[in-house]
Amino acid sequence: MPAAAYNTVMPKRKTKRRVRWLRLLILMCILTTSAFLSIVYLENREGRPEPFSQCQGWNLLLVNRDHPLPEGYEPTLLKLSNGQYVDERIYPELQAMFDEARSQGIRLYVRSGYRSNEKQQELFAKRKQTYLDKGMSEEEAEAETKKWVSVPGTSEHETGLAVDINTEKKRLTQQTADWLHMHAAEYGFVQRYEESKSALTGVNNEPWHYRYVGAEAARQMAEGDLCLEEYVARGCRY
Ligand SMILES: [Zn+2]
Repeated sequence: MPAAAYNTVMPKRKTKRRVRWLRLLILMCILTTSAFLSIVYLENREGRPEPFSQCQGWNLLLVNRDHPLPEGYEPTLLKLSNGQYVDERIYPELQAMFDEARSQGIRLYVRSGYRSNEKQQELFAKRKQTYLDKGMSEEEAEAETKKWVSVPGTSEHETGLAVDINTEKKRLTQQTADWLHMHAAEYGFVQRYEESKSALTGVNNEPWHYRYVGAEAARQMAEGDLCLEEYVARGCRY
């Protein structure tokens, strides 16, 4: 009898141990799978970030060396008191920004607003000539000019949505640059060409060049430290 009892008890113990191992195995499988899935999910999220809300509109038109102005693009212009032109849709907020700056003792001045394609060609040729005069080859002069002046058809100034801002009629002072850096986004303007983003924008640091994108986009771009190229890459449509 004791032998028989011994024989019947052992298989039960073995079964229990097997069940325990099986449970442990299943648990490990579940943990490994969920860890794998969450890594895949996070990678996908990083690769394809969610588009922003209100990510569509004329204010998000992207114009750069790789994205020329849409064919036949002609903004409706408004003439400023100093003779410069801007797209009439950005005027109310541009004026509001200038008024606020003035109330704080900062006098802003639009040195350059809208430029026609002809004007851009003229600027490009003029700058290139200065490099040719310095003895650069045609190729070198062209390359150097491209660092500072956009190729006609790829300048934001041709959209009417960008303005070069100075302090009165002089060059941009640090005080004005700081003020703009702090407040422009409240009026929907962003500093378009920052040093840290020059590889993406194709333009060197230009603390005077502001582009209207709208207050919502300006806020989201500031929060995410995104230039317009990065912003519209999130599935925005013009
Ligand atoms: Zn500019």
